[in-house]
Amino acid sequence: MDYSHVVGHENIIKRLQNSIKKGNVSHSYLFEGPKAIGKSKVAEVFAKTLLCKEKGVQPCNQCSSCLKFDSGNHPDVFIGSAEGESFKKGQVEDLQRSIKTLPYEGDKKIYILEDIDKMTQQAQNSFLKTLEEPPSYVTIIMTVINSYSLLPTIISRCQVLKFKPVESMKIESLLLNNLGKTQEEAQIITSFSNGIIGRAIILAESEDFKAIREEVISVIDTTLKSNKYKIFSISEFFQNHKEMIEDILDMMMVWFRDILFIKELDNNQLIINKDKIETLSQHSLKIGREKIHEIIQALNNAKENIVSNVNYELAIEVMLLRIQEV
Ligand SMILES: [Zn+2]
Repeated sequence: MDYSHVVGHENIIKRLQNSIKKGNVSHSYLFEGPKAIGKSKVAEVFAKTLLCKEKGVQPCNQCSSCLKFDSGNHPDVFIGSAEGESFKKGQVEDLQRSIKTLPYEGDKKIYILEDIDKMTQQAQNSFLKTLEEPPSYVTIIMTVINSYSLLPTIISRCQVLKFKPVESMKIESLLLNNLGKTQEEAQIITSFSNGIIGRAIILAESEDFKAIREEVISVIDTTLKSNKYKIFSISEFFQNHKEMIEDILDMMMVWFRDILFIKELDNNQLIINKDKIETLSQHSLKIGREKIHEIIQALNNAKENIVSNVNYELAIEVMLLRIQEV
């Protein structure tokens, strides 16, 4: 594994490589960004590079260190995450003891600690001592979705690298070239991935995604066609797919945006659901521009309500009624 397996994040990779060139690799890094965006992958390649016997800016993939790294048996790399809900006190103490022991193989030891925000404040405080005076042979790479729950003293000890959403073109090309998706499928999945590469891969491999998308479209169709007495049966669909509600609302949002594009721009290039143009066109004849804006608003409200734990069923029914109204 090397940087060629990472999609996007070129600027971060460049910074890490420059730090090797200039000989100022930091003792502690904080990789911040959404889940599944590629933080751990970059961390692993960077760790592998630092341990590589060739001492280049990327792993040689051939030395004994690189081979051990790839087989998951390198004695000087530790990848750890919270045991259960949080990093336990004992876990942090073990970590601190381990950090104090010298490397087995070369001159470096790398610790990758995932979701470091799962350390309690108390654990962070005791871990801070390690960050303040790390042994010279140690590099600690921590990942976090959002650094706001970390002690400022922790953050200030780290070089913080923020991971941004990956450009659509790069995700699309991965889906096309490596995951065997058609242009149409790649576009649809990319737009639902929000620039999160791990999510795009999950969607690409998920049979559910395809099936749910079909169901969502048929639910929209029924909602637009039927009277409000049918809402009850439609809301059943939402009950059955509670765990995917965010995806479902996103799909609906994109659907109505597509209708808006058909209505306003008469330009099919911007449409995401390209394989469903016919149904989109039928819907576009049925609803006016104003109503589409209202529907998008209703979907946004439903999303907010669900996030803030308003009664789920109620949030869905209000949304469906608002889609039907006007
Ligand atoms: Zn190597």
